[in-house]
Amino acid sequence: MKASLRLALLLSATLLAATSQAAMKALIVDGQNNHDWKGTTPHLKKYLEATGLFEVEVATTPDNKGDMSTFKPEFKKYQLVVSNYNGQDWSKETQAAFEEFVRNGGAFVSVHAANNSFPNWPAYNQMIGLGGWGGRSEKSGPYVYWEAKAAKVVKDIAPGRGGSHGPQHEFLVETREPSHPIVAGLPTKWMHAKDELYDRLRGPAENLTVLATAFADKQKNGTDRHEPMLMTTTFGKGRVFHTALGHAGGGKREAQQCVGFIVTFQRGAEWAVTGKVTQKVPADFPTADKVSLRE
Ligand code: ZN
Repeated sequence: MKASLRLALLLSATLLAATSQAAMKALIVDGQNNHDWKGTTPHLKKYLEATGLFEVEVATTPDNKGDMSTFKPEFKKYQLVVSNYNGQDWSKETQAAFEEFVRNGGAFVSVHAANNSFPNWPAYNQMIGLGGWGGRSEKSGPYVYWEAKAAKVVKDIAPGRGGSHGPQHEFLVETREPSHPIVAGLPTKWMHAKDELYDRLRGPAENLTVLATAFADKQKNGTDRHEPMLMTTTFGKGRVFHTALGHAGGGKREAQQCVGFIVTFQRGAEWAVTGKVTQKVPADFPTADKVSLRE
């Protein structure tokens, strides 16, 4: 073998090793959702991969007429699970495997209606901290919102439904934990593309950190409160990033095309795995008065 060829082979082997070491394995779960999961899973996959940090696979459940017992991904093969799922309960076996995955330090990211899922699965609700719909009520846990006067997060045990939203609109997202790695360095106020502004979410809210909120204006059938939009929790050794943003349906997904959504999703995913964020803030990040979209 010629020396130059040997060198080239050696170099490419080294590069390959470096690449595979750098890549964290992520799994997106989907298959049932009252949103356009077939359109958003490729979008989420593309932007996770665009960080250069992740290799992404997808696990799709049967549809709601199928046999859910066949859905049993090997969560342990991954560092990160992203849920783009809102549908039927998983089997007890799959629920137990997912709990074990996060409890042992696996990372989890919940996107938009993934927080509607599994109202009766206690561990899942601990992971997401807050959820909506599915019969959620005061039995699910408190409401959580930002009290502007006191400048702090409050938990409110008042009775009432869990989960609501008014008509979709553009709204301002405001950082409440500016030193947290997921949002550190981002503008502290940015205009989010047209989306549903989830309000009245309820849940165990244990180990919950509210990173950013949005004001749910009464004029838009909101609560007149600053509602949590970006959150983190921990479950066992696992870190969870929860974005309530990201509606998609009727052929539109501008809420997920919002650079604010994309960047906080990418940073939340990295943080959930490593506890740090190495990604730079892109130049096209939205400002307080201007929405910014990508494909
Ligand atoms: Zn939605």
